[in-house]
Amino acid sequence: MAEKKQHKIVSASSGKETSAKPAGVAAQQIASSTVGLRIGAVVLWVAALVCEFLALKAILAPEDAPFIPGIPPLYAGIGFLVVDLICVIIGAQLWKKANHIHPASEKNPVTFWLWNNMGVIVCAIAFIPFVVLLLTNKDADKKTKTVGTIVAVVALLIGGFASYDYNPYSQEEQQQILAMEEATSQVYWTAGGKVFHIYEDCQHLNRTEELTLGSTQEAEAAGKERLCKTCFSRHEKEQAAAQIEE
Ligand SMILES: [Zn+2]
Repeated sequence: MAEKKQHKIVSASSGKETSAKPAGVAAQQIASSTVGLRIGAVVLWVAALVCEFLALKAILAPEDAPFIPGIPPLYAGIGFLVVDLICVIIGAQLWKKANHIHPASEKNPVTFWLWNNMGVIVCAIAFIPFVVLLLTNKDADKKTKTVGTIVAVVALLIGGFASYDYNPYSQEEQQQILAMEEATSQVYWTAGGKVFHIYEDCQHLNRTEELTLGSTQEAEAAGKERLCKTCFSRHEKEQAAAQIEE
């Protein structure tokens, strides 16, 4: 490697001479906890399964279910299915939110898939057993079976589409984004160039005496349109190497 070029570095915000940015700072950790979101999701999901059970009780065994007298069993059952659906959907939103703050690692595809599809799995458990038990029940009449099944299948579809995570996010993606954000929190540029750089020792900076150090916003304001391609691929390589080391 060539001898390190000594630059005069000027801060974009103060205009004064400054030292180079500290190298190799560990990627910032996401501070906010997701425990509350996960507990909220699990509590709602348990409530959904209780509602499914109560819906079955209301329809198939109204005599030993403590329901408000005067409500026909089928209506009481539908009511419980609606509450079941609401719990499934809200639970899945909390779970998805937690997954996007603290995502699962892609390294284990099974747990990654389970973690991202938990809402859909719970939705299936919250309605399919109801349909199976209703259809296989010998005492239920045809109307009850038809209406109950239609309501449960519609709820299953709504719940499934609402619970699915259309943009699953992984720990690896998050680390990449955080590392890039950190690497570009302070960038270098030259008065004449069109790009800004992550690394002070980038080969394209070898012939320049004076560099400006600032944020990417400041770089863009100074007419630097994008990140230097050499710095970008070096950053990618260093990230890949760091991931293998882990
Ligand atoms: Zn560069």
